Amino acid sequence: MKAITLISGGLDSTLATKLMQNLGVELVGLNTISPFCLCNHRSSTGRSCGAASVAKDLGLELINVNVSEEFLEIVKKPKHGYGSNMNPCIDCRILLFKKAKEKMPEVGASFVITGEVLGQRPMSQKLKTMQLIEKEAGLEGLVLRPLSAKALEPTIPEKEGWVDRERLLAINGRGRREQFSLAKEFGINDYPCPSGGCLLTDPEFSRRLKDLMQYRDLNLEDIRLLKVGRHFRLGRETKLVVGRNEKENQLMLNLARDDDYLFMPSDDLAGPTCLGRGVFNDALLRLSCGIASRYCDLDGRSEAEIVYRRAAGKEESSVFCRPLDEAALSGLRI
Ligand code: SF4
Repeated sequence: MKAITLISGGLDSTLATKLMQNLGVELVGLNTISPFCLCNHRSSTGRSCGAASVAKDLGLELINVNVSEEFLEIVKKPKHGYGSNMNPCIDCRILLFKKAKEKMPEVGASFVITGEVLGQRPMSQKLKTMQLIEKEAGLEGLVLRPLSAKALEPTIPEKEGWVDRERLLAINGRGRREQFSLAKEFGINDYPCPSGGCLLTDPEFSRRLKDLMQYRDLNLEDIRLLKVGRHFRLGRETKLVVGRNEKENQLMLNLARDDDYLFMPSDDLAGPTCLGRGVFNDALLRLSCGIASRYCDLDGRSEAEIVYRRAAGKEESSVFCRPLDEAALSGLRI
């Protein structure tokens, strides 16, 4: 029998997959990619642990499905709401399961494997929620959760004898002890931190995203920018993003659209590259320079010379500017 296994790069999906491989089930891995993925999971020893490296370690063919556009629609208005931050976990899982369902006939799979553990995650791994997700994805009875199977009603693969239920597990709850000992048994010593999740579970990122959604329709370009720098809301249609280090300063240049503004200190000063997006008038340009000045290394000087231009333009302007004071700055910070 063949199944699709949903691989996230985390420990639970790795264990579930390994368990099924040991039972002789033929597997194809499926991973979804969205702009909110933390695809740079690292193990305790710093090794990259994304879905691709897990699949490679397990000798598994991996199908990557880019769900970015569909996921953006979900984030704007999730049918089942958000979790503790901007994470629409239930709708996200429904989308993932739907993608698995779509791929089943293509790869000749009869059911789906997940690393879900009953009761482990507050939003998406409660029994009722798991049933709802399965139903809305049109996969009722066809999702086997090897780590918790014996704590759940038998699924079609178990009832049909495609998989021996007796060799599945009954892990239940938020503890991780059983997973860690199973990992040891399987010789898996190098796995990412189990906290998992995506950027949408991060409070700071969620705050920036909420701010963006309040003023603009979501698009992938704006979301890329949300991931870097310090963010300031200067007006309904105006934002400034300040690079926090060399790498982010370079990213500001790479992420700038033609009509964005770029602000940077004059050559004799160390300081950030800042990206201004939206509608700017003279006062907002001046305010942006004050913010840029605040993050410059003034080395005893009272003001910085800030040079600015449209990203696609050659014509530069510059202004000497005192750093914006902390109270004003924190009032603008997102
Ligand atoms: S944490 Fe993010 S990726 Fe994981 S289920 Fe929730 S929304 Fe989806």
